[in-house]
Amino acid sequence: MDTLQQNVALLDAVAPAAGAPGREILDPATGEVVGVAPVHGLAELEAAVAAAKAAQPAWAAAGHDARSAALMAAADAVEANAEELARLLSREQGKPLNGPNARFEVGACAAWLRATAATALAPEVVVDDGEAYAELHYRPIGLVGAIGPWNWPMMITVWQIAPALRMGNAVIVKPSEYTPLSVLALVKVLNESIPEGLLTVVSGGREVGQALAEHPEIGKVMFTGSTATGKAIIRSSADTVKRLTLELGGNDAGIVLPDADPAAIAEGLFWGAFINTGQTCAALKRLYVHEALYDAVCEALTAYASAVPMGVGLDEANVLGPLQNKAQFEIVANLVEAAKDSGARVLLGGNPEPGQPGYFYPTTLVADIANDNPLVAEEQFGPALPIIKYSTVEEAVAMANGVSVGLGASVWSADKATAREVAAQLEAGTVWINQHGAVHPLIPFGGAKQSGYGLEFGAEGLKHLGVPQIING
Ligand code: NAD
Repeated sequence: MDTLQQNVALLDAVAPAAGAPGREILDPATGEVVGVAPVHGLAELEAAVAAAKAAQPAWAAAGHDARSAALMAAADAVEANAEELARLLSREQGKPLNGPNARFEVGACAAWLRATAATALAPEVVVDDGEAYAELHYRPIGLVGAIGPWNWPMMITVWQIAPALRMGNAVIVKPSEYTPLSVLALVKVLNESIPEGLLTVVSGGREVGQALAEHPEIGKVMFTGSTATGKAIIRSSADTVKRLTLELGGNDAGIVLPDADPAAIAEGLFWGAFINTGQTCAALKRLYVHEALYDAVCEALTAYASAVPMGVGLDEANVLGPLQNKAQFEIVANLVEAAKDSGARVLLGGNPEPGQPGYFYPTTLVADIANDNPLVAEEQFGPALPIIKYSTVEEAVAMANGVSVGLGASVWSADKATAREVAAQLEAGTVWINQHGAVHPLIPFGGAKQSGYGLEFGAEGLKHLGVPQIING
């Protein structure tokens, strides 16, 4: 097992200055101290704003080629430091090194930097009919705030900052107070290639996030986190009429149609729900299965899930980890307890071991559960999947659409055309067919309903980091 000797160089580089306030960050798998994060406040935010204002005009003037080259170099720097970054991420966030977890997340950072650097956004001629002529350009916004969550802290930071920088903006990052070290270390590495002042982390609490959302010098906030915080940011940003991209909470439904093959879909269903131990915005959080194959799907999923190892992230054998923090552990535990009390049937898990170090909640599958049970109706954000039986596809669609959020959804069927017909009826920003949660740097991603607004990734994502300007004439 690796020890605290890991990550020393990057941790030293991001540690608070002597005498400055710091906060111990604990490993959610073991309770050991991972490192000490600086505690920044409003003074550091103002310093970051001043540095960003000074650096941004030259960056905007440098043009797309120079900015793309810097992002490509930043991707190389991430790869050069990949293992160290992944180990730190694993220890701070809890996700294992192996599987679709820490190494995968660091790899995605490099991939998204490269894809964002390579994506062109040419001015668009919107009318040219001999009488009218107009072009649509996207100009830099200026200063962009990036406020992120604790579940995929590095990858989501890159999703926010890569398009912002690419479009000629400076960025101030406010990481989650649960995972600041990962973001500080990542930005330290990125800043080997990004000119000084353009990219600064202010490692503070929610008051720093609120000040960022209120700040008159900041033109846009990219926010990924809960729907409740998204609503607070809309309010805080109202007086400055800030642009916002809001990637908020989800409660994604998956619908298994009667023609699906339970054995063939079990693996995809499992990882759709349990990637990052369920702590993923667009994870499968409610599974609706037709009565004709309900028992077969429950059996296939239980067989697959019971063989997937969970444990300390630095152990290469594990591909599922702990919940990242105590509050999240309690949310999951309380929801499963309430489901049990309601008479739902636990197929797997539901029995965390008391007195263990770390916030491990076992992989849990719950069958024969009512659609209005809180484990179904609320976002559990952890390794506990409710499986609901349905009789008609209309009923399944109505249940899937019966929540206030709409990030992702999925349809599982042997027939893609049928699956697409059902997909068209679902109120979600993305509907996957025979998979759930896959993201791609060129495929736009964003929520419907109270899962937020704005798109990320690809050319559409770049547009959201610019101010549209029409040149008319
Ligand atoms: P959270 O909303 O508690 O915190 C997110 C960030 O907002 C943190 O940095 C926090 O300090 C900051 N913050 C808190 N209050 C604030 C305020 N009043 N003003 C400004 N900033 C404030 O979210 P979390 O618990 O870290 O993340 C989990 C949630 O994020 C889940 O609901 C999940 O579905 C969602 N999420 C969504 C996406 C997506 O792409 N849609 C991706 C990942 C996570």
